Amino acid sequence: MRCDFMVIGSGLAGLTFARKAAQAGSVIVLSKDRLPESATNYAQGGIASVWSPQDSFEEHSKDTMGAGADLCHAEVVDLVVREGPERIRDLIALGTNFSLRAGSDPEDHDYDLAREGGHSRRRILHATDATGREIMRALVEAVRHEPNIRVLERQMAIDLLIDAKFDRAAQPPSCWGAYVLDLDSGAVRRIAARATLLATGGAGKVYLYTSNPDVASGDGVAMAYRAGVPVGNMEFIQFHPTCLFHQQAKSFLISEALRGEGAILRRPDGDAFMSRYDPRAELAPRDIVARAIDNEMKVHGYEHVYLDISHREPQFVRQRFPSIHANCLRFGIDITTQPIPVVPAAHYCCGGAVTDINGATAVRRLFAAGEVAMTGLHGANRLASNSLLEALVFGHRASLAARALLHHDRTPVPALPDWNPGRAVNSDESVVVTQNWDEIRRLMWNYVGIMRSNRRLARAFKRIALLQEEIREYYWDFLITGDLIELRNIALVAELIIKSAIRRRESRGLHYNIDYPQRDDVHWRRDTVLVPGEPFSPGAELDALLHHSAGAPLPAH
Ligand SMILES: Cc1cc2nc3c(=O)[nH]c(=O)nc-3n(C[C@H](O)[C@H](O)[C@H](O)COP(=O)(O)OP(=O)(O)OC[C@H]3O[C@@H](n4cnc5c(N)ncnc54)[C@H](O)[C@@H]3O)c2cc1C
Repeated sequence: MRCDFMVIGSGLAGLTFARKAAQAGSVIVLSKDRLPESATNYAQGGIASVWSPQDSFEEHSKDTMGAGADLCHAEVVDLVVREGPERIRDLIALGTNFSLRAGSDPEDHDYDLAREGGHSRRRILHATDATGREIMRALVEAVRHEPNIRVLERQMAIDLLIDAKFDRAAQPPSCWGAYVLDLDSGAVRRIAARATLLATGGAGKVYLYTSNPDVASGDGVAMAYRAGVPVGNMEFIQFHPTCLFHQQAKSFLISEALRGEGAILRRPDGDAFMSRYDPRAELAPRDIVARAIDNEMKVHGYEHVYLDISHREPQFVRQRFPSIHANCLRFGIDITTQPIPVVPAAHYCCGGAVTDINGATAVRRLFAAGEVAMTGLHGANRLASNSLLEALVFGHRASLAARALLHHDRTPVPALPDWNPGRAVNSDESVVVTQNWDEIRRLMWNYVGIMRSNRRLARAFKRIALLQEEIREYYWDFLITGDLIELRNIALVAELIIKSAIRRRESRGLHYNIDYPQRDDVHWRRDTVLVPGEPFSPGAELDALLHHSAGAPLPAH
């Protein structure tokens, strides 16, 4: 099978790219699950953009850079913020219905702008509290009607086809598509493409508790790294402060927008603690809020805290947050009268495959957009609702760059080897996969979570090396399955997060190490980039880590 453009991932970044690439050639879109399953589909709060006349690009940029703790790339921030409104108009033209201000005429496009933590203005366009679902509805409909796009569901990319791996003379290396597993039949096929986009989303499944859907196992970052693409800033994992805490609720997120509308965080004893941590209290950026909750839970031994919006008018709460209201009711919590039990959970990966301002990676013909990429927009911390914006802007930019590349470069697809299953046989030991999967996720939660320390990181480094060895042996012995591919990917992504966290010997943005609680602009005001094949020198780094003391408490607030 072959095409001009292959898109691995069918969320906002992938489908934006696909629609625009289809104007210049044939497109295959791979989806690990069925459309519209993706993180995009669960985005509640909305998409940030300068829309009101009282707002400005400068203010949106300033808020983004402020959250990013001086690691954002200013030119990237500027271009994303400036291109945002035009890209949102594309979505509106496609039929996306964002919520309007009460009583306004739809023709006037007078949208209800929400405000979220870290934003100095109301600038979040939303579709009540199910923004992603509405965006995906419009995009999926458009893609289904596009004859140049073929969507292959339940098809999982295993690895990229890099010519230099088969032919040493092929320099610089180029990507010519991917090996793909049909999750229903178990067959592996080769799909050749002249340009490939990685749009596989995030890596929340690396952690025990996450707001992410099951598809978010960091496949794209792992594939990119194995293909030779440098990966950056993986230590900056955003933990969403407020996931519903309930045994039957699987990763249900309680949007930041609740805090924007006045919801208060309280300990089980009723104490409203946020103003002790930050003068912005509930409106502080989410890393500060997540750390505060984590600290309250650890110090007092609580299993969760509460988020309380019951003081607002019930009618307003039901109208503004219909999905959250309905979902919580399913679990017996009426948010108009009761506080919501919440815990933090891994939510967003700021790092990823390093790209330029057009989504191009270091490997020719390979692009990355959306959460899988590290474009320089987020720096050390993502400002709320900037990720949908990034996926949209870079999905668009990468499609233009890929189209231009194929227009100027007519090199035919070279001969590519078929998938070689080697000596692999069916496994009767799938328990190895479940065991390692659980171990990695727990290890990451306990040792590489919201609060890190040198000792915890050193332990995690040693454990992941052992697990990697075991997985490598298993991987080549048995026929691959979706679970095994994901296990191999989360193990690699975990290793990349641990190494990046070990490298950064300071606390900045989302990375908090109790042994280096201060920010150090002299040494660390730079991205952490891991280059495939480059030695990590674990001996020296780990020795240093092991000789540092850990366990210092969180500084008093
Ligand atoms: C609960 C929740 C709420 C959020 N709320 C907001 C919000 O309000 N505003 C905001 O800006 N951001 C929000 N985010 C973050 C935002 O939704 C994501 O960062 C963004 O949607 C990522 O888009 P994407 O296109 O990069 O990836 P996704 O939308 O996650 O899509 C990834 C796609 O890749 C596919 N895939 C993965 N691996 C493979 C593989 N190996 N082979 C084939 N296909 C593969 C998946 O099946 C999926 O189709 C939220 C995230 C979550 C989880």
